[in-house]
Amino acid sequence: MIVLLVGAPGAGKGTQADLLSSQLGFRKVSTGDALRKHVSRKTEIGKVAEQVMARGELVSDDILLEILRQEVGVDSSERILLDGYPRNVNQAKSLDSLSEAHLVARCVHLDVPEDELVARLSGRRICGQCGASYHLDFAPPKNANQCDKCGSTALLHRPDDQPGSIAKRLQVFKKDTAPVLEFYKGKGIYNIVDGRGKQDEIFEEITVLILKNH
Ligand code: AMP
Repeated sequence: MIVLLVGAPGAGKGTQADLLSSQLGFRKVSTGDALRKHVSRKTEIGKVAEQVMARGELVSDDILLEILRQEVGVDSSERILLDGYPRNVNQAKSLDSLSEAHLVARCVHLDVPEDELVARLSGRRICGQCGASYHLDFAPPKNANQCDKCGSTALLHRPDDQPGSIAKRLQVFKKDTAPVLEFYKGKGIYNIVDGRGKQDEIFEEITVLILKNH
């Protein structure tokens, strides 16, 4: 079974996906994380994706399909949480054809107004060592510039969290990803969740939606 977590950049998909995987036993598959690994390992995919990602644009559907093939297995008993895929309707259709072993059971749309997304993304810092996420104003590390979890002093401002790229990513979400939500509304498996509340309350709400029919 596959559950999709869809939301604009900064909506909190990664945080909720981590909670769902640690508390409900879903395996999180994040296409953004997979691409960033390719970039840091300087693979062929990474070399092609790096600049596209830094500009805030979508990496090609062919590459994403390859990533998906690598990350989603054929074990139909597995519960998978997809974070960051599909990002356009073509990808949604590819997912249907690729994942014969898996039922796409629910599409959860994490909804946050644009001004809040910009504030969240502009202040976000990521630990280059362990991937932990911070915000300079809303969730700073205990010691400035040091990761609470692993102690690394490499807290990074993602290239695509720079102002020009943020604007582009929000534009891409509206143009390419919003139609994906309509696609799943048509299939009767769409739910919207307000992404502005407390993390644990949002998590509870998503949990109820996911477990409702299973
Ligand atoms: P994320 O961490 O999900 O915000 O993804 C970071 C970047 O990776 C995006 O801005 C895109 O450039 C790229 N990316 C991630 N997932 C996809 C996808 N499904 N299709 C195309 N590009 C993607």
